[in-house]
Amino acid sequence: MQTVTLNNGVDMPILGFGVYQVDNDQTEQAVSAALTAGYRSIDTAAAYGNEEAVGAAIKKSGIPRGELFITTKLWVQDAGEENTHRAFDASLAKLGLDYVDLYLIHQPFGDYYSEWRAMQEIHKAGRARAIGVSNFAPEQLVDLIVNNEIVPAVNQIETHPFKQNTDYQELMRAEGVQIESWGPFAEGKNGLFTNGTLAAIGAEHGKSVAQVVLRWMIQRGVVVIPKSVNPDRMAENIDVFDFALTDGQMAQIAHLDGGESLFFEHTDPQMVRRLGGYRLS
Ligand code: NDP
Repeated sequence: MQTVTLNNGVDMPILGFGVYQVDNDQTEQAVSAALTAGYRSIDTAAAYGNEEAVGAAIKKSGIPRGELFITTKLWVQDAGEENTHRAFDASLAKLGLDYVDLYLIHQPFGDYYSEWRAMQEIHKAGRARAIGVSNFAPEQLVDLIVNNEIVPAVNQIETHPFKQNTDYQELMRAEGVQIESWGPFAEGKNGLFTNGTLAAIGAEHGKSVAQVVLRWMIQRGVVVIPKSVNPDRMAENIDVFDFALTDGQMAQIAHLDGGESLFFEHTDPQMVRRLGGYRLS
């Protein structure tokens, strides 16, 4: 598997498997199938409610821990470093692991400076090989960098053909932060899987729209974590390393950028209130 090297020297697979919106009782089976299909990077979160099932699949697989790259995320906590330490301990226990490869602040809401200070301690203690953030806007990311010791290794943000984040990726590159896409298929919104441009490019390579989308991001140096509960699609989504898009095809896809979220803006006051005020029980 092709990897990217994070700002602290840790290698991360450029393609992994996401388990958002996979029910807890379906997750173990899905992750087992993904591991069988060859995925070695798994992206979960405390908020997904399926860390235990991810851990069960990892354990059953018998794959050496060092060959896996496991990401989980911290949900919004009440202020104070101790809450982050407690949440991290709970995630690790659910996963049944001694360490995670990447620990992310899930949302840029609440007292995330205290969260980051605690995560720096977790990283220094060797319990998270890398730490990063998710859904951080440029000004939030830069402020966190300027005012803390450790530069986030990753920022996981909504990125797909209709929201490409090209300029933001440049900024992140300059700051040493790896861009990771969530929602690489925009969950099928905006007719992604039947998009004419993507389908025509796919036809030229004998590849599906999904494969073109993943290949396009990999060629841009974006880490991708597509989700599927369907083993055929899991195999399809990882089969993207035997072809390359031309510069012209990359330029065609660049034209699909609408620059706007297809989900919600993290600056929307209603969403700030709803997500920022929500606590996991
Ligand atoms: P995706 O963009 O990965 O889309 C998933 C959807 O596409 C599912 O409905 C799936 O259906 C379908 N699909 C998958 N592969 C194919 C294929 N080859 N052909 C046709 N349809 C396909 O959405 P996600 O939101 O799940 O994003 C991926 C991951 O990103 C998440 O699982 C999660 O780990 C992370 N994420 C992080 C967020 C954050 O705030 N940090 C927010 C959202 C996601 P089926 O399962 O039936 O195959």
